[in-house]
Amino acid sequence: MSVRASVTDRGAVILGKNVACDAFEETRPLRVVTHAHADHMVGLRQSLRTCKKVFMTQATKDMIDVMRSPLFLMSGVVETLEYGKTIQYGEECITFFRADHILGAAQVLVQDFEGKRIVFTGDFRIDGTPVIESDVLVIEATYGSPTCKRSFDTDIKTSLVSLVERGLRHGTVYVFGYHGKLQEVMEILHKADLQVPFIAPETVFQVAKVCERHGMRLGQLMPSKEPEAEELLENNVPSIAFYHMESRGSVGLDNFRVLVSGWEFGSAIRQTGIREYVVALSDHSDFNGLLEYVRRSKPEFVITENFRVSNGETLAKEIRKTLGISATALPRRDIS
Ligand SMILES: [Zn+2]
Repeated sequence: MSVRASVTDRGAVILGKNVACDAFEETRPLRVVTHAHADHMVGLRQSLRTCKKVFMTQATKDMIDVMRSPLFLMSGVVETLEYGKTIQYGEECITFFRADHILGAAQVLVQDFEGKRIVFTGDFRIDGTPVIESDVLVIEATYGSPTCKRSFDTDIKTSLVSLVERGLRHGTVYVFGYHGKLQEVMEILHKADLQVPFIAPETVFQVAKVCERHGMRLGQLMPSKEPEAEELLENNVPSIAFYHMESRGSVGLDNFRVLVSGWEFGSAIRQTGIREYVVALSDHSDFNGLLEYVRRSKPEFVITENFRVSNGETLAKEIRKTLGISATALPRRDIS
């Protein structure tokens, strides 16, 4: 069964005869981008140049247009595919399903010439993700170790809101996170009706505009380059500045800082500096969520994705042990 799916050494998730997801693979004419995170756009330039078609959701396309440039995707044949709509290529059918991760994220189902169902989850959080029944399942393994269980019951969104409210008493609060997650935080804080300006640098601002076009409600957001925003930040006026995680070493160093990260399992909020906190807001399933997906998907065979993180081996072992389903981690990492 394993020949129907695989993960290459360069991170391409191969489904059936034609589809390669999330990295370039020269032997497959179709490339799928499951979502707009950088580690799922590996070799995209090459795919655009050589693949017959590159598939993604409209929201993912809109995100890539602002994260790269509108010209970038024009160098290839990009086709947008809606959730639940099937397209046929040769003897195979390809369908996207929603994945609760970032805006536009998709799971991919390929049905081959024998009707076998080959599924790749992409990145996902179990709560809002429909489980797709499969014969062969390729599953992400970010938190694929039993040490990655979120045991705290706290309502993280409420904790996040009160932490930010507390920070606002000191002036501007800086929130750091990855694209998609930052906009989720904006939505949470907007819903909580905090009466302060939201500020973001260009790319974060543009990604937020895409999220709004696709139905998220984020409130009033100001580009950080606008004089009004610059003045707020300079004078440490209570406001919330949203920056990409990469900027955490260079901006808001003396401010109240909130980092949103999924790599937190002990507590919902952890203090990491005098005025710095990490909030455990994740857009991935924890270990139990991954096992639950496998159990409900009822595959005959599972491949744990072992390219983007290194928990694939552990997850495969746990799937064999606790669910009795054969599972293997790919690509193998025994060379290093
Ligand atoms: Zn992701």
